[in-house]
Amino acid sequence: MNKPLPKRASVVIIGSGIQGLSVAFNLVERGQRDILVLDAGYWQGGASGRNGTLIRPGFASTEWTELFILTTNEWKTWSKRLGENVMFTQRGYSVVAESEKSEAVLHEGLKVQQRLGVKSKLLSKSEIEDLLPAINKSRVRAVQHQFEGGVAPHHAAMKGLMAFLKRNNIDVRYRTKITGIERNDRRITAVMVDDHRIEADCVVSCAGPNNPDIAAMAGVPLNGYGMRIEAMALEPTRPLIKPAIALIDSLAYFHQTSRGEVVGGTEVPERPRMSLATDLPVMSTMAKIYLEMFPQLGEVRILRHWAGQLHASSDYAPLIGEHPDLKDFWFSAGWSYGFAGAPAAGKLLAEAIVHGRIDPRMKPFALNRFETTGPIIEGGIVMA
Ligand SMILES: Cc1cc2nc3c(=O)[nH]c(=O)nc-3n(C[C@H](O)[C@H](O)[C@H](O)COP(=O)(O)OP(=O)(O)OC[C@H]3O[C@@H](n4cnc5c(N)ncnc54)[C@H](O)[C@@H]3O)c2cc1C
Repeated sequence: MNKPLPKRASVVIIGSGIQGLSVAFNLVERGQRDILVLDAGYWQGGASGRNGTLIRPGFASTEWTELFILTTNEWKTWSKRLGENVMFTQRGYSVVAESEKSEAVLHEGLKVQQRLGVKSKLLSKSEIEDLLPAINKSRVRAVQHQFEGGVAPHHAAMKGLMAFLKRNNIDVRYRTKITGIERNDRRITAVMVDDHRIEADCVVSCAGPNNPDIAAMAGVPLNGYGMRIEAMALEPTRPLIKPAIALIDSLAYFHQTSRGEVVGGTEVPERPRMSLATDLPVMSTMAKIYLEMFPQLGEVRILRHWAGQLHASSDYAPLIGEHPDLKDFWFSAGWSYGFAGAPAAGKLLAEAIVHGRIDPRMKPFALNRFETTGPIIEGGIVMA
């Protein structure tokens, strides 16, 4: 039986997906031990247990690329720091353009990436043939290849984080939903689990699609809305796709696992947004895109098809930092690439919470950017 919930914690983290666990891990590394992680659902029930597991350092904007260089570097250190193998394999990540417009985005992104030191290049025809022999070359205008991108199975990363937190006696609870937030004029003071009050010095919301609801409980606004996206896995087949891959025109991303399954998804604007039901039309759109790009997949059956939910901000960029209207109320929200981004977000938030240091790589993702610096323009993401 679970021990009773405590009456106070220095830091309460709402949500035990990869964002919440990464914040907790980074706080522990900085000497913070009085942490309580509360999750309304079950272990890996959120998007962190339902994603494509793709990780890359390079995008088309400076803001995204700086953040994701940091995150890729952090991924490289997680197995050692956690004492658990998170199985990050840097097999490379190819971004494919099928149109003139997307080709221009790849060129523009390459300049940004090279200025910031990302190991990436546009592949020649023979390099495409070598790296992606099964791709339908008649559809490909350009391929930007990022050598340090890759994949990390989410079960390994989540298990590694949880094992680390358990070893450090961090209290992580499931089936424990935050139902209210208490505040005074200036700062957050406590969270409520039904009628149980937990006083906190600091609250970090990592509630995925429910982040706007958490902000609303405290009476403050948060940009964005919850949305559903879908993915599928094909039955194992012979090695056809070496790197992780994103098709920016078709809004698709996938990779082939070491067992041979092709796993990934396609962004299709969907309704209703907050449901975990899957849709046959979305499945057929995904299958069509896979087939057009890799015709050999025609003989392979679909094994599984599932949905997950995200918190989409207006510019699809994450919202990382303290709420501008309420002290000690932090967010790691608005994530569409939040599996890849978790190591960086956890580090930057822990640095800010423990040492009061706001890293320049976090600043552009401030919660109030839409009223101050404006949205972040990023053309290299696959979001509908
Ligand atoms: C199909 C799919 C494919 C994806 N592919 C990729 C990819 O290849 N690469 C990538 O980087 N990202 C990918 N993503 C996105 C990525 O999975 C998410 O951005 C990331 O997992 C978000 O992590 P999180 O911890 O913020 O959210 P989640 O993992 O969703 O966790 C949020 C948690 O908050 C809890 N919660 C909500 N409300 C409350 C409450 N009131 N009280 C307590 N707990 C609460 C929920 O129970 C949940 O467990 C994909 C997502 C999907 C769905």
